[in-house]
Amino acid sequence: MKAFIINKPYESEVGEYSLRDLKEDEVLVKVKACGICGTDIHIFKGEFPAKFPVIPGHEFSGVVEEVGENVTRFKKGDRVAVNPNIPCGKCYYCKRGLTHFCVNWNAIGIHLPGAYAEYAIVPEANLYSFPEYLEFEEAAFAEPVACVLHGQDLINISLGDTVVVYGLGPIGLLHLQLSMIRGASKVIGVDIVEKKLKIAEELGAEYVFNALEKDVPEEIKKVLGRGADVAIEASGSIKAFEDAIKSVDYGGKVLVFGVAPENATAAVKPFNIYRREIEIIGSFTNPFTTGRAVKILASRKINVKKIISHRISLDEVQEYYKKIMDRDKTILKVIVKP
Ligand SMILES: [Zn+2]
Ligand SMILES: [Zn+2]
Repeated sequence: MKAFIINKPYESEVGEYSLRDLKEDEVLVKVKACGICGTDIHIFKGEFPAKFPVIPGHEFSGVVEEVGENVTRFKKGDRVAVNPNIPCGKCYYCKRGLTHFCVNWNAIGIHLPGAYAEYAIVPEANLYSFPEYLEFEEAAFAEPVACVLHGQDLINISLGDTVVVYGLGPIGLLHLQLSMIRGASKVIGVDIVEKKLKIAEELGAEYVFNALEKDVPEEIKKVLGRGADVAIEASGSIKAFEDAIKSVDYGGKVLVFGVAPENATAAVKPFNIYRREIEIIGSFTNPFTTGRAVKILASRKINVKKIISHRISLDEVQEYYKKIMDRDKTILKVIVKP
């Protein structure tokens, strides 16, 4: 089959790849749509521990092509969304229900062949059906939405809370919309790209601020009269993390969702955390949230099509990787249609 393959950091090709035979509990999925994620770029740059050569692509949906002999819930032709994470089920963390900390963690598109390809092998347990009316490119959001749901669960927004979202890429725009569903009274969006601020406004942000032009924590205090109840950092920027902490009110909560460079450190005043009782909460991947993510997508209570900026073929992946690395301002979510 045709696939986009990263042989080693900064070296990729579109070529032929032979998938192994299906095991009894596995399903062969014909890939219909796969989102490009920041993680894929980190893998390309060698910044994320992947198993080379690797076919990236972990945010995908498709149609069942073939099933292993013990598969019972799916048959050829079924439309499926995918949770790419495969925990071992045996380690200390798995047995505590913390499968996202699994010490033998495997993921499709990182350690196992992913979905920038015509087909992908997926364990039956990782598949979710979705209704006929939902498009494949919408269902491809099951993974990122599942991650955002986990973060939303952890930050636990109360009805009426004010929320500020730093970073309005696909993830920030999902947080923005889900925060409104959770009952936030006002959601504020922050980014440095005007196009993203505009989309955030169209999706319901009460205020948007360009962090290159404004002292955002000061602006937030001006428009709200005090700090926000919740800040969500979805950019990976250290400045945004520092500002997020400065943005929240007494008793405020900060969700650290964006992926900062692994060794970067930030300037935080411990006195402030203490005196203002600020909670700082991390969020990693999507344990047990994919089923709900598919239900939210099927409800169409969030608009994911507005987050898609480009739809491309396998042959264009390399070109778009470059655009993303060059910080092309027109790019939001890029969907690969193999
Ligand atoms: Zn992803
Ligand atoms: Zn495990």
